[in-house]
Amino acid sequence: MKLKALVTAMVATSVISSMALAEDYKIVDEPLELTIQMNHKRYPVYEEDWPVEVEARALTNIHLIDATVGANIRTDSENTGKTEALNLMLASGKIPDIVGSSRIKDFVNQYGPEGAFIPLNDLIDEHAPNLKKFFEEKPEIKAAISAADGNMYYIPYLPDGKYGRAFFIRYDWLDALELDVPETVDEYEAVLRAFKTQDPNGNGVADEVPYFARQWPELIRLVTLWDGRSSGSDTYHDFMVEDGEIKHPYAGEGYREGIKNLARWYEEGLVDAEIFTRGSSSREFLLSENLGGSTHDWFASTSGYNRLSDQIDGFAFKAFAPPASPSGKRIEEHRRIPIKPDGWAIGGTNKHAVETIKYFDFWFTEKGRRLANFGAEGVQYEMVDGQAIFKDEVLNSDEPVNNQLYAVGSQLQARGYFQDYNYEKQWSNEFALEGIALYDEGDYLIDQFLGVAFTADEQKVYDKFWPSVRDYMLERQQTWVLGNGDVEAEWDDYQDQLAKKGLADVLEVMNSAYKRQYGG
Ligand code: CA
Repeated sequence: MKLKALVTAMVATSVISSMALAEDYKIVDEPLELTIQMNHKRYPVYEEDWPVEVEARALTNIHLIDATVGANIRTDSENTGKTEALNLMLASGKIPDIVGSSRIKDFVNQYGPEGAFIPLNDLIDEHAPNLKKFFEEKPEIKAAISAADGNMYYIPYLPDGKYGRAFFIRYDWLDALELDVPETVDEYEAVLRAFKTQDPNGNGVADEVPYFARQWPELIRLVTLWDGRSSGSDTYHDFMVEDGEIKHPYAGEGYREGIKNLARWYEEGLVDAEIFTRGSSSREFLLSENLGGSTHDWFASTSGYNRLSDQIDGFAFKAFAPPASPSGKRIEEHRRIPIKPDGWAIGGTNKHAVETIKYFDFWFTEKGRRLANFGAEGVQYEMVDGQAIFKDEVLNSDEPVNNQLYAVGSQLQARGYFQDYNYEKQWSNEFALEGIALYDEGDYLIDQFLGVAFTADEQKVYDKFWPSVRDYMLERQQTWVLGNGDVEAEWDDYQDQLAKKGLADVLEVMNSAYKRQYGG
């Protein structure tokens, strides 16, 4: 009798608390419709019937109505129509209540101060406790997304997890040639040379391609092996912060030394002769043909190639720690950036700014964050001991887990949300997790540049000089690596040309923006 009463009481309590919980997320009593422009390469337009959206609607009572214009419906990775869609939307003269897009940051930071978007700072302080808490805990992220007028105009997609790319090598080839895992740049060079000359794939032909990369800037990344830098962020060729100053990696001494050595590697055949042209299928082709020896690429997807051990006897392509430079430094330059220029903003004519910021805040609640990361409960995942765990049919499907999530409106990067690395960890294979542990132990990651927001005057200087400086840098870089010039002999002339083309002016506006934004 006592027990029965207790159980009844427990059931009653849990019903009440779950009802109270659902109430907690309700933003308005009567359903409120808000229009949305949404465009991202993975999601050409917003779909009102995504299961994640259906659940968010039921919880919040906010109904988003698709009003996307100018979306480029090409879904290949070369889709560059994203900013174009924003421009078309602006040209149409009607800005929806919510605008979500990839590369929205510069757009809202330019047009927000002119009134096209509503500044979010006060709205967050007064109506969005979860967002407020997030930014209080991560002031560097607040600084990074603020416009030149000090206001935030968008809520970003915030990636989780630190690790992105790593050095990978064929451990079975090292074994075949009785070589150790290289610890220094000299040892790495010796290993690549052995791959080139000692037939580790055993077919009697010198067909091995020692270093290859899907993206050619991953060759330039190797200047870090000589204390150079190739980028300050997860974007190729980006500026970097050194001793509190913005500099460009392609003007530094370590870069010169690195390019000199990479030209030598290229000439000796230690680097894929087609590195600048082979493109995105390089990894798939060179690994499955048993030709590729080493690369620098993403942990999870690259580790996945160990499935080739079914076809290639002993195949083992695993991460190794960044080789030490001649001065003894070991760095991994690439890491996940904590903040993307993607996300969403409130249109300047939105009549329900308070309800909208509350809706944005919903995605930063525990429930909303789970929905944004894992899909719908009971469909994509189940709660086990307080954790969202993907269902077996999701993990074991032929369709990659992320693609399954994109299809239901989860991991939607034109939405402002905080990713949960646990979503990815559940489908990272043992080789990726082992590699990440190795990099974690060595602490090879370095700080990164999170970008600046220009005033209109600074923007003009940047736009006037930077494109030609950048083009010149990239043109010289490729020429030197291919051996059609000598970086050492031409270095002074190169510096003179950078000065003439306005690099100093660009660095001046970068630094003034940087100091304003980060209080340097
Ligand atoms: Ca061979």
